[in-house]
Amino acid sequence: MGTYARQPVRFVRGQGCRLYDESGRGYLDLVSGIAVCNLGHAHPEVVAAVKDQAEKLFHCSNLYEIPLQETVAKMLADNAFEAKVFFCNSGAEANEGAIKLVRRAARSRGKPKPRIITARESFHGRTLATLAATGQEKYRQGFDPIPEGFSTVPYGDIEALEASIDGDVGGVMLEPIQGEGGIRVPPGGYFEKVRRICDAAGILLVLDEVQTGMGRTGRFFAHQHEGITPDVMTLAKALGNGFPVGAVLARPELADVMTPGSHASTFGGNPLAMAAAHATLSVMLREDIPARAHELGEYLMERLNGLAPSHPSIVEVRGRGLMTGVEFSCDVSFLPAEGLRHGVLLNVIQGRVLRLTPPLVVSREEIDKGVEAIDAILGEKGL
Ligand SMILES: *Cc1c(COP(=O)(O)O)cnc(C)c1O
Repeated sequence: MGTYARQPVRFVRGQGCRLYDESGRGYLDLVSGIAVCNLGHAHPEVVAAVKDQAEKLFHCSNLYEIPLQETVAKMLADNAFEAKVFFCNSGAEANEGAIKLVRRAARSRGKPKPRIITARESFHGRTLATLAATGQEKYRQGFDPIPEGFSTVPYGDIEALEASIDGDVGGVMLEPIQGEGGIRVPPGGYFEKVRRICDAAGILLVLDEVQTGMGRTGRFFAHQHEGITPDVMTLAKALGNGFPVGAVLARPELADVMTPGSHASTFGGNPLAMAAAHATLSVMLREDIPARAHELGEYLMERLNGLAPSHPSIVEVRGRGLMTGVEFSCDVSFLPAEGLRHGVLLNVIQGRVLRLTPPLVVSREEIDKGVEAIDAILGEKGL
């Protein structure tokens, strides 16, 4: 179906931060399949783990024990917070699971019609419930009726959040940094206050770390910048470095509302997906990839800020780690196509924000090349 506006290029191979098309031409990847291939393409350890597992067992069903799920769950919990984990296949599916968990938990506390508060400009996925949670009308166009049970407040606005809490609210679901909404970083101290409001009201804090997680922002999980712990956290994108896998983490006593039969996913957490996630997490931890993202992120930000004086269309450079956005005063939807001409993959969101999410293994030289290409394109356009 024609659901995507695609660039006219066909990639057949990848290596680290480079992708190669049918003719053998190489491109510098500053997108990572949208914050997915955080260890770069064809990472040897992930490839070997998937190959090895593929020869043994792809799938057996959650009707049976899958020991690798326990290993991966423990690695996640050890690096996030004490949690039980449900495995699924995508970000939307992880958020669906989190929404179901919040509703069940609220019901068990005597709230028959619980509501979840989310943020304007948020993005939580394309299924009906996650569209309802998403605070951007454009994604919902033509898909009514949309499930009930959600309301939105402006992101970063503590007073608005406080005012929206009533007896029906079961939880608050937020991205630590809004991704699709335009790489929006919340004001300092926002999440500490959100945490306090949730605690005072006895409601759950769900963090959608589908895009921000797995080292992207310079910490293993973005909430670790904020000094808070969520009750529930969702992951997907980079968890399998490109192999489809998602996860819902919840504090153990909370997770226990999800009893046998209450939720399931046929493919969720199958041995092949777990092999990919296990290898990805192992490399991330051993090589301290989040620290690398922090360091290279600072360098990228510095280089991008260096462009601003000669390109007046640049309004702001923002982000954390290697989750970086450059906001322009004009539409820059032409950047992905122009980037291709220059051999660099670029992504634009909201029409005016260049989103840069290179693999976290990107080098300074590669960042230099990318920034030089952006500089050249803006120069050609007189921006
Ligand atoms: C990408 C994304 C999703 C949706 O993930 P899919 O795997 O496409 O379903 C949800 N939330 C956030 C924050 C995302 O960036």
